[in-house]
Amino acid sequence: MKVAHNFNAGPCVLPRQAVQAAIDALTDFKGSGMSVIEVSHRSKEWESVMNECRALWKEILNIPDGYHVLFLGGGASMQFLYVAMNLLENKAGYLETGVWAKKALKEAKGIGNAVAVASSADKNFSYIPKGYEIPKDLDYFHITTNNTIYGTEIKTDMDSPVNLVADMSSDIMSRPVDVSKYALIYGGAQKNVGPAGVTFVIVRDDILGKVTRYLPSMLDYRTHIQEESMFNTPPVFSIFVMNETLKWIKSVGGLKSMHKLNLDKAALLYNEIDRNKMFEGTAAVEDRSIMNICFVMAEKYKDKEEAFMTFAKERGMVGIKGHRSVGGFRASTYNACPVESIKALISCMQEFEKING
Ligand SMILES: *Cc1c(COP(=O)(O)O)cnc(C)c1O
Repeated sequence: MKVAHNFNAGPCVLPRQAVQAAIDALTDFKGSGMSVIEVSHRSKEWESVMNECRALWKEILNIPDGYHVLFLGGGASMQFLYVAMNLLENKAGYLETGVWAKKALKEAKGIGNAVAVASSADKNFSYIPKGYEIPKDLDYFHITTNNTIYGTEIKTDMDSPVNLVADMSSDIMSRPVDVSKYALIYGGAQKNVGPAGVTFVIVRDDILGKVTRYLPSMLDYRTHIQEESMFNTPPVFSIFVMNETLKWIKSVGGLKSMHKLNLDKAALLYNEIDRNKMFEGTAAVEDRSIMNICFVMAEKYKDKEEAFMTFAKERGMVGIKGHRSVGGFRASTYNACPVESIKALISCMQEFEKING
């Protein structure tokens, strides 16, 4: 069977075990004689998947008491609105680190007073702003921990004098996180923890119920806490595959091991980008993401971009075209991207240099 070297930014590569478990569950879900997409979401069999998945989130991320884990629809993009509706009363601050951060800020501005506290727009979001102060009069401060398009990442859990809210769509479960530093964490599952269709939210209970506006039931986090993410029909198939993905993360040793694997993979590729005279990285070195690795042809070889794309494609590389706002190339090296794929890409770069450099 053909297996691609999948560097897609999302949806993206999933662990083979999770994909195989999904295939099996489509044939016969837990001996029910039905597929997982045909059973009732109120059945005992399904309830056990929901419970297991919630428990795995808490265990793997070491989520303290006082938080709830929710599985919702609508993607991270819907959370841009949820966050503002549920938390914004007087003023919210956003760290403007890219397109996703800007979209989150835009939704908040539609709800109330929201401002960019700092921005890296001046250099096309190629770095993470530093040295700014988080105003103490904010209802919350919103960050995007990994900037999927630009390949920059906030790699530590920052201290914040106000409730810290994080879009972790593209680096959740890539490293251990001190959840207690965050009031709310959310993201689309489709970059590190599953297929598209389910959105995870980790919310500290005490931040809710503080706004005066009317909250529609569906947009009120408290509804989903109360109904254990089954206020309406949950995206069962996506949650099933997410659960299998979490089992895989646990089986490889949890987030400490995952982090080490990710650091090693990223170091291999960045070392080649820095060594190879035909390529150069686009993100500030200290802010380089370990999930999305962006690079371009060096100035002298700009005319070779198309040629390298073709060369890499012919050797099985998939999804390495950079986002149009950065250009060049982007290799997304999420949890499930095997080191063999990184090595295959590096071989491509070395061969290409031998022929054209
Ligand atoms: C992909 C992505 C989003 C959008 O996620 P959807 O689930 O498609 O709405 C938001 N934020 C970040 C950081 C992303 O990488």
